[in-house]
Amino acid sequence: MTYLNTLKNSIASAALALVALPAAAGDLQIVASFSILGDMVEQVAGDYADVTTIVGPDADAHVYSPSVADARAVAQADVIFVNGMGFETWSDTLIAESGSKASVHIATDGITPVLVEGEVDPHAWNSLLNGVIYVNNIASVLSEAAPAHADDFKANAEAYVAELTALDTTTREKLAALPADRRTVVTAHDAFGYLADAYGMTFLAPVGIDTEAEPSAKELAALISGLKDQGASALFVENITSPALIEQISEETGLKIGGRLFSDALSARGGPATSYLAMFEHNLGALVTALENAGDS
Ligand code: ZN
Repeated sequence: MTYLNTLKNSIASAALALVALPAAAGDLQIVASFSILGDMVEQVAGDYADVTTIVGPDADAHVYSPSVADARAVAQADVIFVNGMGFETWSDTLIAESGSKASVHIATDGITPVLVEGEVDPHAWNSLLNGVIYVNNIASVLSEAAPAHADDFKANAEAYVAELTALDTTTREKLAALPADRRTVVTAHDAFGYLADAYGMTFLAPVGIDTEAEPSAKELAALISGLKDQGASALFVENITSPALIEQISEETGLKIGGRLFSDALSARGGPATSYLAMFEHNLGALVTALENAGDS
């Protein structure tokens, strides 16, 4: 059976199951497409909404197959948030097939897109000032959906924005302190274009802005032979992709693996990146530590 048919059948059974359930009472039911966005929504919603995240910790939202539980959550939602910018290739189908009556909102509305080889880079959260735009978008949607709590959402958003802005300042200071020849790093896929733009770094990657395409042997060889010329100082594996490519690049170039970056998803509970703020702080720490020590051995 094809994936689409499986999904349609799953959704049909989920819809049948729904008929038997009592209507969800009280709180606003919100669905967020992936873990980083889910955390932002929770920070703004506080106690006044139930937030369900579709693509969970350490999982890759570029390539995802929705489950029956996802279809059920979408069908029951009042409000759905997606990243947009082509990130969730599966969300339009999931929402349409679930028969959801929820309003659907693109959290990146108003963000100036970064283009990579002519394509929109969807990883806009990797600049904290873009994070502020996500949060303000979320607060305005929630205030319209539940006007009785508009003041709470506004207060939550303001406190959260203050934390994001403070970390943005710290990030600028720490990365600005790195020597000019230690600002180029390699990650598995091209997820840090917004961080590069916002904070004056260069990120190179063997895989493009989505994780679907493997590089050809020729592309990989060209990347590897160019890395030293381009001044790459450290390599990083990611939480959502296989480390194999980065390990191969490390072996062939002698460049060290500086650690693990959380690019497109939070860590599972107990990990170092269980919130958007913690994720950004972890990534900043990993970058600074690896780049400060690069070339010292
Ligand atoms: Zn990505």
